Amino acid sequence: MQAIRFHQFGGPEVLQLDTVDDPMPGPGEVLIAVKASGVNPVDTYIRSGTYGPRPLPFTPGLDPAGVIEAVGEGVTALFVGQRVYAAGVKTGAYAEKCLAEAALTFPLPNSLSFEQAAGINVPYATAYRALIGRAQTRAGERVLVHGASGGVGIATCQLARSLGMQVTGTASTAEGRELILREGAHTALDHTQEGYLENQSFDVILEMLANVNLARDLTALNRFGRVVVIGNRGSIEINPRETMSRDAAILGMTLFNVPPDELAGIHAALYAGLENGTLRPVVGSTFPLTEAAAAQVAVMQPGKLGKVVLVV
Ligand code: NAP
Repeated sequence: MQAIRFHQFGGPEVLQLDTVDDPMPGPGEVLIAVKASGVNPVDTYIRSGTYGPRPLPFTPGLDPAGVIEAVGEGVTALFVGQRVYAAGVKTGAYAEKCLAEAALTFPLPNSLSFEQAAGINVPYATAYRALIGRAQTRAGERVLVHGASGGVGIATCQLARSLGMQVTGTASTAEGRELILREGAHTALDHTQEGYLENQSFDVILEMLANVNLARDLTALNRFGRVVVIGNRGSIEINPRETMSRDAAILGMTLFNVPPDELAGIHAALYAGLENGTLRPVVGSTFPLTEAAAAQVAVMQPGKLGKVVLVV
């Protein structure tokens, strides 16, 4: 099969198309014929080496969507030919085939395309974990999705709106703000405008770029407010007094820390929303597998309008 691999850490140019052996599913695993593969910012951090060592050569990709081609010993809940997406890849998803844990492979509602399904796992599980697991947001609370036009942001807007929260999202472009209003935000702000958070207050802030926004976030929190740090690309100085005066909490999160049984529960909750249409991944741009390097450049560009997806 064909797979994108890098043989050394570096820029997008280290990604190359290689011919490799087909993987074989072991006990409790499934082999997925990948039709689409989500591109996430974390793929670029792994490629550049900032996420620590990986066995080289390495195939990136955490978000496959496709059709089950073979099942390993003991797999009874899934069948060959089934349309699925996976949350527990054992081999990278930027490939024609990948292995996944059967317990973390989930059927796809018929209404979703493979391209959309490649935008479920990391974005929606992160949104759910941040909004519900970490911030314990309740219906009626005011939520700021700080960076709402990308994969995680759109997922968070849809989820928060469907759960009865008051949702404000931010995006840098007019198209981005239109998109997030369509996808669940009651209000949209421009995070490039001076003073855009003045006179705003929130119970919960889901933060996509904490190194830029955390200090300002704290001043926009209500008493007992919570900020969940989802994304961060550097350091920042904050005034801890802003947390004292509000009894506020700064909560970190990493999807990789969610235990497998809890992850399965998150995907059960997501399935309900995907099935009834309240959760609908938005595909911003698609690239063929051979253009994985261009896709990884695109995922780090500003002006987000949904997910970047590889079509296999
Ligand atoms: P994405 O699709 O690239 O979207 C990035 C979002 O951040 C866009 O909405 C973008 O808006 C916005 N943004 C850019 N500059 C901003 C600013 N100054 N203030 C607020 N928002 C700003 O990325 P994603 O997949 O949604 O992921 C978002 C972040 O979370 C990334 O850093 C990613 O690495 C991280 N993440 C973490 C976890 C975890 O487990 N903790 C899981 C998934 C993702 P514009 O393009 O309009 O500027």
